[in-house]
Amino acid sequence: MNQDTSIPENFHSDSDAHPFTACKVCSAALNDSTRYVIEKAYKRLTDGEDVTLFELAICIACAEKQAQKMSSESRKTIERLMGSKDFFEKRQARWLSDWKSDWTDRCIFSDEEIQPNDEYHIVGHFKGTEILPYQPPFVIGQKMLERMQDELSAETKEELDNFGRQFLGPDPRLKILLEDYQFVMV
Ligand SMILES: [Zn+2]
Repeated sequence: MNQDTSIPENFHSDSDAHPFTACKVCSAALNDSTRYVIEKAYKRLTDGEDVTLFELAICIACAEKQAQKMSSESRKTIERLMGSKDFFEKRQARWLSDWKSDWTDRCIFSDEEIQPNDEYHIVGHFKGTEILPYQPPFVIGQKMLERMQDELSAETKEELDNFGRQFLGPDPRLKILLEDYQFVMV
């Protein structure tokens, strides 16, 4: 199957509408030898328009370091919620289908359609300008975000909040949002 592995424009940075070029944490270039994750959080307004709440490009080395700061209990929780066989199988199967036509419609975990007033995240794993094979981007819907928030320890939430305050930009509106917003590290 001939796959178009170019990164969807949804993952371009809102600040300049261009692809991200550097890890937000260590500033490493996101070139052909770097694997990295982009996560963007949106709110869908009542009129259907999506506004970006935050965006983050992070290299795998920094993402792993951040994950290690979590308590083992929290890591287990995330693995239980997000690391299921179902999720991996679904994601792989989507790679072989026409995923580009509808990947932003539904939460990959709950299958629920994104509705007005929902908050949701998009997540993608890339290398240079390409999507990693068999890892098409996916959506985490509001219910799943809430579940993660509920089940993660207060300690981990604080770590993630600190991370958010440090790296997700100086916009004061963003800071307020992040006080009660879960940043997900997949
Ligand atoms: Zn980095």
